Amino acid sequence: MAKVVKIDETECIGCETCVELCPEVFALDDAGEKAQVIKPDAVDTDCVEESIESCPVECITIEDE
Ligand code: SF4
Repeated sequence: MAKVVKIDETECIGCETCVELCPEVFALDDAGEKAQVIKPDAVDTDCVEESIESCPVECITIEDE
C-alpha cells in the first residue's frame, strides 16, 4: 500500500511553518486558515520530515493511503 502525506486539518492552526519549509508539498487553503497537502506522494522529501518535526501541533503524518 502506498504511503501518503496527510494533515489533520481539524488540528492545524494555520501557522504556515510547513508551507514555509516545504512549499512544494504544503499550501494554505483558499481561506488562508489551514494547510493542505498539495503533493501527497512526496513522502521521501526531506522537507516533509522537517515539517513533521516542526509542526507545533504535530498534525502532519505519513500514513497508508
Ligand atoms: Fe498546520 Fe502544522 Fe502546517 Fe502549522 S505546521 S500550518 S499547524 S500543518
